[in-house]
Amino acid sequence: MQSLIGLNLNELESLVQELGLEKFRAKQIYKWIYSKSCRDFDEMTDLSTKARDLLKEKSSIGSLKLVTREISSDGTEKFLFETSQGEKIESVLMYFENVNYSEDEGGNTPPGRYSACISSQVGCAVACPFCATGTLGFKRNLSASEIIEQVLFMQNLSEKRIANIVYMGQGEPLNNYDSVLKSIKRIREDVGIGVRHITVSTSGVIPKIEALATEDLQITLALSLHDSTDQGRDYLVPINSKWPVFEVIDSLKDYVRKTKRRVTIEYVMLDGVNDSLDKAKILGELIKDLHCNVNLIPYNSTDVDDPFKRSNSKRVEEFSKVLKQHCKGKTITVRKERGHDIKAACGQLANSVGSKT
Ligand code: SAH
Ligand code: SF4
Repeated sequence: MQSLIGLNLNELESLVQELGLEKFRAKQIYKWIYSKSCRDFDEMTDLSTKARDLLKEKSSIGSLKLVTREISSDGTEKFLFETSQGEKIESVLMYFENVNYSEDEGGNTPPGRYSACISSQVGCAVACPFCATGTLGFKRNLSASEIIEQVLFMQNLSEKRIANIVYMGQGEPLNNYDSVLKSIKRIREDVGIGVRHITVSTSGVIPKIEALATEDLQITLALSLHDSTDQGRDYLVPINSKWPVFEVIDSLKDYVRKTKRRVTIEYVMLDGVNDSLDKAKILGELIKDLHCNVNLIPYNSTDVDDPFKRSNSKRVEEFSKVLKQHCKGKTITVRKERGHDIKAACGQLANSVGSKT
């Protein structure tokens, strides 16, 4: 059955005409789906019952089913969806207060914004040992429609307008390049979220970073670096054996040259693994000529035979200080933890229902 989510206005026009409906109906449907996040043909009150029945028979608005919706004590919500093929994927909705959007919005600080963390694949092949998704293995790429639907479904259920999107749920987005790219364009054009509010996080798939640099998109690219040496990164981000540290940093420099966009370096802080002050120094040297911000991520336990421990806050502070000394002028932030009690935090998405302990 044809899913309407993911079709643009032209495609919707062709479809309604094929169904024998007037062309202008497409505009009405388009508005219901993308502006109002509608998921039920019967709510499309400006369509005739006959048109609605025809649409119901020949198409569906989306293809995902909601399995569970959990709310964390900090307000973060985690949604477990089932695909039409019976697989589970997760998406997270977070609220950020007082986010400073000075770069984009002339120094105004808007009241607060909803940010959606969405999945791009069922499972992930990269198999980072500290990530719950990595333990699932790779099942399949999501379609552009399934990616966009996560955003619209969360808007529908929460009745909140989403302002930011991060491709930081399950999966390696650049291993599903075509669908991710299509979803970004559709989210920009049809859902109406500016690309400057879209971030794609990658473990470092160099050929796709190079491809992305030529797309003329103003998105933010984030690299999960997690170690400043090949020896350490080979273990933490296994695709490093194919695309090592220096090469991936070079590809980011190229990306910055071509797009004029600052990139983000993500670094998960693992006690005794990658948090030595020596590594902070090497990291600082490595990125000092890269136009970037650094985001240190407190490790979230994944509960799966967990050999990792979160670095304590004193170490994070020292690491950040040494790093700053070696790459002056860069903004270094520590990611604020979200939804830990429902396993909605970074790296905890493994299709489980979070137990409140
Ligand atoms: N696959 C992409 C995006 C998904 S994860 C990537 O790896 O970049 C978003 C961020 O959370 C990545 O930097 C990832 O390495 C990090 N992450 C994964 N598991 C984590 C965990 N258990 N605790 C904290 N961060 C984690
Ligand atoms: Fe995949 Fe990212 Fe998890 Fe690594 S951290 S296993 S790339 S989802």
